[in-house]
Amino acid sequence: MPPVFPFLPQRLNGLAVLACNLNWTWNREARRLFARVDHQLWTRLRHDPFQLLQQAGPERLAQCAADQDFLAHLDAVLAWSAAEQSAAPTWFAQRYAEHARDTIAYFCAEFGFHHTVPIYSGGLGVLAGDHCKTASDLGVPLIGVGILYRHGYFDQEVRADGWQDDTDMAFDLSRTVLEAVDGANGAPHLAAVRMAGRDVYIRAWRLRVGRVTVYLLDTDLEQNHRDDRPLLSRLYAGGPAMRLRQEWLLGVGGVRVLRALGVQPTAWHANEGHASFMFIERLRELVIAGTPFADAVHAVRAASTFTTHTPVPAGHDTFAADDVAACTGPVWDELGISRDQFMRIGHYPPDPSGAFHMTATAVRLSRRVNAVSRAHGVVTRSLWRSMWPERREPDLPITHVTNGVHLATWMSNSLMQLLDAHLGAGWGNRVDDPALWDRVLTLDAQALWDVHRKLKRTLLVHMREQARVAFTNHTREASRLAGTGVLLDPEALTLCFARRFATYKRANLLFHDVERLLRLVSNPSRPVQVIFAGKAHPADTPGKEMLQEVYQTTRDPRFEGRIAFVEDYDMHLAHVLVQGGDVWLNVPRPPMEASGTSGMKAALNGVPQLSTMDGWWEEGFNGHNGWAITPELSAGAANDDAAAADQLYELLETEVVPTYYTRDRGGLPQRWIQTMRHALRAAGLRFTSRRMLIEYVTDYYVPSIRGESTLDERPTA
Ligand SMILES: *Cc1c(COP(=O)(O)O)cnc(C)c1O
Repeated sequence: MPPVFPFLPQRLNGLAVLACNLNWTWNREARRLFARVDHQLWTRLRHDPFQLLQQAGPERLAQCAADQDFLAHLDAVLAWSAAEQSAAPTWFAQRYAEHARDTIAYFCAEFGFHHTVPIYSGGLGVLAGDHCKTASDLGVPLIGVGILYRHGYFDQEVRADGWQDDTDMAFDLSRTVLEAVDGANGAPHLAAVRMAGRDVYIRAWRLRVGRVTVYLLDTDLEQNHRDDRPLLSRLYAGGPAMRLRQEWLLGVGGVRVLRALGVQPTAWHANEGHASFMFIERLRELVIAGTPFADAVHAVRAASTFTTHTPVPAGHDTFAADDVAACTGPVWDELGISRDQFMRIGHYPPDPSGAFHMTATAVRLSRRVNAVSRAHGVVTRSLWRSMWPERREPDLPITHVTNGVHLATWMSNSLMQLLDAHLGAGWGNRVDDPALWDRVLTLDAQALWDVHRKLKRTLLVHMREQARVAFTNHTREASRLAGTGVLLDPEALTLCFARRFATYKRANLLFHDVERLLRLVSNPSRPVQVIFAGKAHPADTPGKEMLQEVYQTTRDPRFEGRIAFVEDYDMHLAHVLVQGGDVWLNVPRPPMEASGTSGMKAALNGVPQLSTMDGWWEEGFNGHNGWAITPELSAGAANDDAAAADQLYELLETEVVPTYYTRDRGGLPQRWIQTMRHALRAAGLRFTSRRMLIEYVTDYYVPSIRGESTLDERPTA
């Protein structure tokens, strides 16, 4: 039931229908169609179809309704969207027809589908979003379970002194693609969860992502105690007590909501440890139904996959045992075990405090456990080796599935058009053929360069527009304008650094030797400019300090306005940056970056990466598709910021800058363009979410559904 838009002519009702399924976000014809309604408005509204259909003038809408060409376009997109929601002969249906009725439940604390549904903070959520979109493409029978954060993730505003203010935002649910799901007999709730001694009622919202449905949990109901109503309203906010409650509601409530909807998954996937209580609830269900505890553990494991994303012990959620008991108790009675036995499910041997570890819980209760890149697999096995004291580290039953990104979401329309011309229309159906990606090495240099220059202009215009809005809103003094990027030069080599301001990501590495950076930036014939974006977690004071340090340099006149900071990094800004920069800069302190997906998005747009050898770059770098900072292997040196900074400057001075500015007679940087082609080829071959999901289906989901055991047994609970 599409929402009602007062000025929308009947004949254009299809636009409202399209807006109600997020698959428009990855169909370039659908995006082009919305833009056609009112290009300026579409840009100003940051690609929000609900706002567009509300704000477009009645005259303009009437014009569209009378425009035969527009109507033909609309009908074609509607036909595509309908086919993309049907059970067409998909990849999954062709290979696994016998599993057409199976369901894989995919739990994650955040999902990043589109910036108009702000229930993500960063990489984990965007990965989960790309996972669901790809499941739709491939016809994988997956259902997502997450949380509706009514206040979303915070908006970022940077003060004049560079300190990040975290401003609250609430989004109007009636203006989004979310649909309320009614409970039995019209009740607003679908399930109740016992928590801290009282029942918390849970409702759900449905999000349509192509063929995939995602259910988002919400406790803002009148029946709930007033302290429980806002429990799920903010993402990664509040202290551990709030996090614990959110995770209990997600895990237990998620299973119960699925049951209330009649969904009986045959495979279960927890994406990161926030969802680990899902395993506990399934144990409880089995024990209540009469299964002995040990058999229940066996059954839960057999159907479960767990993906860990965090390479450092401190990054994993842990809760004090007493807090867990107060929140969940006495769930152990229902499980038929003692409180001590229950706490041992979350026991992590190196931690003497007796805290409850969400990752340890998931590792014990999933037969299939994976890290998100090859390098992260090595780190993860060393983190968890104590759980299998009798095994050699390389033999631990923890594997990896390297992350990937959703091509149709992240590749620009312009590059897709160029590929249409070069590879033939329909190349999107041949992306599994490696020969297709070899052919991008023969992309016409001039054509590829033209596409790139156009996207770079879009980026700079975007920054100028954002600065103009801030300026006219009087939030910005004139002296701060330079730092917003209004002085950036479309001809200058542009590095982009856009990521969360966590200290290990080392946003300030470039400023390690300011004089050396100044020489790069202010070289009159070969200038370098840098664009920064990213939020610091509200509770991460060192991260905020690093952001402040970077921000203040944007106002340093010695840099001539060539260092800029753009506020409010979200998926929309991420698109503009990964498509429009010249180089994607990534300098984490190894081995802290589990994967790092933004560099894959850039590469899918032909934007090469300059990165430390960490996360996906350890697999992705091939000597032709970018540049690598290689840590010394000797102990300690890998963490040496000075050595990394030295290599970074050296690479910029001797490789990146000369390659970019060496032009042929026609003004083309031929070697640079070759690097761009290689970046695109490597990403297309190995780092799409399509390759990733096919691995999950083949090696994880289908064996789970079939109850195939692996030789690897889990540590005892
Ligand atoms: C892709 C993405 C990320 C993840 O990027 P990293 O490479 O892991 O830093 C974070 N935020 C947004 C908005 C993204 O689109």
